[in-house]
Amino acid sequence: MRVLVTGGAGYIGSVAVDALIAAGREVVVFDNFYQGHRSALNDEATFVEGDLADAAAVESLMSEFRPDSVMHFASFTLVGESTEDPLKYLGDNTTNASNLLKSGLRNGLQRFILSSTANLFDEPERIPIGPEERIVPGSPYGESKYFIERMLHWANVTKGLRYAALRYFNAAGCTEIRGEDHDPETHLIPLVLQVALGQREKIMMFGDDYDTPDGTCVRDYIHVADLAQAHVLALNALSDREVLHYNLGNGNGFSVKEVIETAREVTGHPIPAEVAPRRAGDPATLIADSSKIRDELGWQPRYADLKSIMQSAWDWHVKNPEGYGD
Ligand code: UDP
Repeated sequence: MRVLVTGGAGYIGSVAVDALIAAGREVVVFDNFYQGHRSALNDEATFVEGDLADAAAVESLMSEFRPDSVMHFASFTLVGESTEDPLKYLGDNTTNASNLLKSGLRNGLQRFILSSTANLFDEPERIPIGPEERIVPGSPYGESKYFIERMLHWANVTKGLRYAALRYFNAAGCTEIRGEDHDPETHLIPLVLQVALGQREKIMMFGDDYDTPDGTCVRDYIHVADLAQAHVLALNALSDREVLHYNLGNGNGFSVKEVIETAREVTGHPIPAEVAPRRAGDPATLIADSSKIRDELGWQPRYADLKSIMQSAWDWHVKNPEGYGD
């Protein structure tokens, strides 16, 4: 089985490529290095440099390699940015996915795994958030992922494409060889660790007046290797299942303040923190009920607590203080 991984040089995609190769799959990576890194590429994957916005490049990729499966990681992913530049998300994310789907379906594509998001659940009726929760996108980013889920729905109904929409909560942590290195960095854990490394003076906490126990936002942090494993399981499951929707998290919520406190414990650094205004598009609390993928596919996260996730990130950042360096 040949799997095309878009964004396979990026944070989550590169770890998924490693997991696919470990599982014996043939992998083709397509990446434009917007947030990816050449040194995050797995040597055993075939690499094609290119942009999903370039429909002709996508068509030639698909007709040359004819992958039967796609894992689609490449995307604009920032909630805050999407509230400032909504069409970058509602336009580009969806057009890029549509280019991929159109060419894929013309060239024998059978399975598609989408990196979707917990930002679909802005007003959850129940926490932890289960598979039946109503969809209320919290930002243009979340909405763009929902559009793509709907494209997949109709590709399934009309063309028989099998798909899995994996709704990630907060991806975090690093493996021994792959880390989190965005430019600019906007994510809480790497920013907190930059303070511990002496690269940043303090961390700003976006809002302390949310309806949560300590007033800061609560998130469910899930290790990137556990996410990657879920992708491999979902791909296998699509051999006999048509459509899968899963929420992926650990089922435990940690506030921004608790994340900073955990980083202090792991790094031994005082990590000064200051309250700043809320960031647009942030729901107060996102905690996953992942029992569906656990029950149906036997998914079992190996990093069940924030401290071990933080430790894995700290180990990578200490070894790679400047990130990948490319
Ligand atoms: N956050 C923060 N300060 C920062 C970056 C993030 O307080 O410098 C908060 C953010 O508002 C959110 C949580 O940390 O409540 C996680 O944000 P992140 O960007 O890491 O992930 P997201 O939830 O957007 O996927």
